Amino acid sequence: MFPKLKFTKEQILAYYAKVTPEMVSGSLTRYRHGFFDLLNLLSPAASKEEFRSVLREASTLARRRYYGKTVSIFAPLYISNTCVNSCRYCDFNIHHHAKRKTLTLDEIGLECAAIRKHGIDSLLIVAGEDPKHITVDFLCEVGERLKEQFSCLSLEVAPQSEEDYQKLFAAGFESLICFQETYEQDLYKYLHPAGPKSVYEHRVWTQLRAGRAGFRTLGVAFLLGLAPWRVEAASLGAHALYLMKECYQSRVQFAFPRITPVSGGFIPEYPVSESDLEQMMLAFRIVFPECGMTVSTRESPAFRDAIVQSAADNMSAGSRVTPGGYAISANRDVSQFTLNDSRDPKEIYQAIRCNHQEVVFKNWDKRI
Ligand code: SF4
Repeated sequence: MFPKLKFTKEQILAYYAKVTPEMVSGSLTRYRHGFFDLLNLLSPAASKEEFRSVLREASTLARRRYYGKTVSIFAPLYISNTCVNSCRYCDFNIHHHAKRKTLTLDEIGLECAAIRKHGIDSLLIVAGEDPKHITVDFLCEVGERLKEQFSCLSLEVAPQSEEDYQKLFAAGFESLICFQETYEQDLYKYLHPAGPKSVYEHRVWTQLRAGRAGFRTLGVAFLLGLAPWRVEAASLGAHALYLMKECYQSRVQFAFPRITPVSGGFIPEYPVSESDLEQMMLAFRIVFPECGMTVSTRESPAFRDAIVQSAADNMSAGSRVTPGGYAISANRDVSQFTLNDSRDPKEIYQAIRCNHQEVVFKNWDKRI
């Protein structure tokens, strides 16, 4: 469980089992929500068909109150797929024999030019954990080069110290996402047997260090499929509440990545259905209306198009999950997961507009 959560897994499960339809209705009608409202809306009682349209309606209203009819667009840029970790579920892990690549600064420039062609102004830099090549100095150089080209630069790389986050913030990065993968400490140990990522404590306080260093957005998530999702979601909610208190100047952002097939053949023990995923996203939107929420390219176009109307406020477009995938070497190297939405950016913008929503490329300018 998230270390600050004062309940055991058994207590959380016992609470879920006792939630009644009346408790779900009560949580839906409240204006301000707390931790137990989140549990009520995530519970099996709230998953009944009779509640689905009410959940959608409440979530759509909450989303509209904070984000109007806008959908923010970003693109991930994988700059490296080398990694010293041994996460059992990921094809970037050190034991997986595949061609690896770290982009040079010039190659990053080529990739960015291909991304910019589609109007995209928010960039997420992604890399495996490779302290030899993906150093803080290298990332700072990347930030310095790209901050004039993109109005928002985000990071999804190895967790850093607070001092290093200060350097990265000064170099132009303002947002960070770090998947906890699982909040269950024993399972975490099993899934991450070696490498720097094996230290649970270092990973779980990543967002706190980044927030203290000034990062504007702190992304939290677990990997859906590793453990029972309702228990993990309780920890995710507790994590978000903790960050909202400790780093009140920053905005918390949720992502809900489901495990998709990888060539290493990892089979998730607790698969999460699309219906479960929808319930989770609706519940988090209702309880955390002001927080950001991303819908992954792991999901189908139909699901993505629907959920950006009812819960999520941002999505990626035209994503490539291999280093060099936009302009240099499509399909040449190992990718981190299977994409289920392979539409090009134009098709995604068109789908958003068809649903009477507005595509937003830029919603932040630090110079103003
Ligand atoms: S999940 Fe991240 S840290 Fe783990 S092997 Fe994959 S890229 Fe490396």
